[in-house]
Amino acid sequence: MDQPIVYAVKHKNVDVRMASRSGGIFTAVSDAVLEKGGTVYGCILRDGVNAVHIRAISKEERDRMHGSKYIQSNMGDTFLQVREDLAAGRKVLFSGTSCQVAGLKAFLGKDYGGQLFCLDILCHGVPSPLVWKKYVQWQEGHYGGTCVDADFRNKKDFGWDEHVETLTLQKPDGTTETVHSKIFRNLFYSHKIIRESCYYCPYKDITHPSDMTIGDFWRVEKAVSGFDDNMGVSLVLVNTEHAKDMFDTVKKNLEFFPCRIEDSMQTPLKKPFRRPEGRDEFWRDFREQPFDFIANKYGHYSRENEQRLLRIAKEHAAAPKKHFMGGFFAGLKKQFGYSGNRQK
Ligand SMILES: Cc1cc2nc3c(=O)[nH]c(=O)nc-3n(C[C@H](O)[C@H](O)[C@H](O)COP(=O)(O)OP(=O)(O)OC[C@H]3O[C@@H](n4cnc5c(N)ncnc54)[C@H](O)[C@@H]3O)c2cc1C
Ligand code: SF4
Repeated sequence: MDQPIVYAVKHKNVDVRMASRSGGIFTAVSDAVLEKGGTVYGCILRDGVNAVHIRAISKEERDRMHGSKYIQSNMGDTFLQVREDLAAGRKVLFSGTSCQVAGLKAFLGKDYGGQLFCLDILCHGVPSPLVWKKYVQWQEGHYGGTCVDADFRNKKDFGWDEHVETLTLQKPDGTTETVHSKIFRNLFYSHKIIRESCYYCPYKDITHPSDMTIGDFWRVEKAVSGFDDNMGVSLVLVNTEHAKDMFDTVKKNLEFFPCRIEDSMQTPLKKPFRRPEGRDEFWRDFREQPFDFIANKYGHYSRENEQRLLRIAKEHAAAPKKHFMGGFFAGLKKQFGYSGNRQK
């Protein structure tokens, strides 16, 4: 197909949507593959620190893939496993960044037709896992605990369009402490910690190497008025006939609207992010300075901000369910001047 078919999509199950980064299209597609006895490949976060690709044959294992991990995922031997699954005649869904999909296809070296479904995420660029690790260790040191879980963009407490990372720390006395912050997010959006190759990414276009491309449908209100409820909307690009069939199979589980590509454009569909000035200085500082220095200089860190975010999360937890998202977050925006943070 010369141009993708574009949809704004929400999974009909609100719990699925809340567990997902955007509108939950990944769950709909992976459910369809698993229900046919297929296997699903995608990224999980292990021990709160390591992003790795794994193979799932059940919905429980697949659920660990929910949520965006804003660091480069370690592929391990998943390409080999995909090839074995295909050779055994299984249906396979592979999900990852566009370059991971292109890498898999180059590795396989042949067309598996309808047996292999590739799904790529719209990709801002992948930050360095080492910076994430140092950041987590620094928070562990401050709070005296071990990180057991992390949410790179906590939608449940702050809404879809905000960007707050949340760490769950296990303390030596058995209690847990939750830390909300924007330090890693600030490092990410400075573009100083994304991989060098991401500044020259060849997939920053409306055409992609996968069957289906998925992302956050920022400014969806422009395309479909009244669809945004701050719980997440997926942008879905149907790139191939195979993806058209897949969309027909899963659409019974979705609320969706066809859209114009012009109304869904964001930078990763147009061009790579520019290599920022000061990138080399950042890496020099990162090698030579303690993380405290990095958090202050590049992460705009303040403990007051972390306390403020904790208050917001507590207020959200205590808010009556009927105010969930819409009412609660509208109130927050008024009270704290939240501006939303839709990366274009
Ligand atoms: C590094 C990164 C950059 C992103 N940049 C953009 C962007 O610029 N614009 C935009 O609209 N959306 C971006 N996204 C978000 C992405 O679009 C969502 O992950 C996608 O919409 C999936 O949402 P979902 O609701 O279907 O489901 P979810 O169930 O949350 O989907 C999770 C999917 O993301 C994959 N995934 C998670 N982390 C990684 C990782 N580190 N490497 C490879 N695959 C991963 C999983 O394998 C799974 O397929 C980015 C995500 C990541 C991880
Ligand atoms: S920006 Fe491009 S090169 Fe970088 S991880 Fe994403 S798809 Fe790969």
